[in-house]
Amino acid sequence: MSLPAMRVVRPRTVEDAVRVLAAHGPEAMILAGGTDVVPNLQMRLFAPRVLLDIKGIGSLRGVVRQPDETIRVGALTTLTQLLATESLRLRYPVISSAVRSIAGPLQRNMGTLGGNLCLETRCRWYNQSDFWRKSLGGCLKKEGTICHVAPGGDRCWAVWSGDCAPALLTLDAEIEIAGPNGNRRLALSSFYRNDGINRIALGGDELLAAVVLPPRTAGWRGVYHKLRIRNSIDYPLAGVAVVMNVDEQGVCRDARVALGAVNPAPVLVKQAADWLIGKKYSPELVERLVHAAIQTGKPLTTSASSPVYRREMLRVFTRRALEEMWGMRPRTPNGND
Ligand code: SF4
Repeated sequence: MSLPAMRVVRPRTVEDAVRVLAAHGPEAMILAGGTDVVPNLQMRLFAPRVLLDIKGIGSLRGVVRQPDETIRVGALTTLTQLLATESLRLRYPVISSAVRSIAGPLQRNMGTLGGNLCLETRCRWYNQSDFWRKSLGGCLKKEGTICHVAPGGDRCWAVWSGDCAPALLTLDAEIEIAGPNGNRRLALSSFYRNDGINRIALGGDELLAAVVLPPRTAGWRGVYHKLRIRNSIDYPLAGVAVVMNVDEQGVCRDARVALGAVNPAPVLVKQAADWLIGKKYSPELVERLVHAAIQTGKPLTTSASSPVYRREMLRVFTRRALEEMWGMRPRTPNGND
């Protein structure tokens, strides 16, 4: 499980980093916290000629409130720093709920927000050693011609296994992408392609610079529920993020529901806002939303946990989270279920 031979480049500015990416194209790979990239390199999922270690770029760190009241979170801000930032904890509780559920303290000290948003998609047939993969002849995502999850199909269903993205989708977050022509802004919902191989809309000469949180969703209640094999460390097998703006009469003024780890992209449950705005809690309404959630999530045999169980847990988590938002059950702040 040694690392492949490669040249490591450590730029000090975003402009230098973008120049290296433009010069080396697909032969370059970005390293931030390394909690996902390094094991993937050890398993030879990638063998870049150039590893671009961006940790020395100071402008990519930190949480700043901007003049237009948006909050800009640098892509290199660590997960631990996110948890320690009071303004995020108080104004956007769904972020803390999701981040607390990621891996363990050591990985959160190293792992970055940008890295979590750019994770590789995961599949039990892909996240294996070189030897293991090759003994099966590989698959569409690497070294092979078939998909072991959906044989006969021509697309990869490896799942999106980050926890930050569903939470940020519910907050209508945007991202800043740095490239050779400067920065561009994109809705986070447009960043993910729902394709296990070409998973994100990031050019070969671009890097994710920051996440921008709008003031409109600040102060909304929020929670993230996560299914995983080992509560102390694992990737999600299913994740549900719910935010809601509830007035003093218990009427929902706005809401979002997003799912992770059950599709090749994190996805919003489209019906949530339309069905919930202007409504008070009712078990019938919750069950309607629960049904929409399990129609949106499409777990397959990409992990050791059965698709039927993961789908069932979407039902449980969505119901539980909506009841929490309406104050019908105690809040679960830490994403551990
Ligand atoms: Fe490979 Fe299919 Fe898994 Fe994608 S979903 S990684 S193509 S086995």
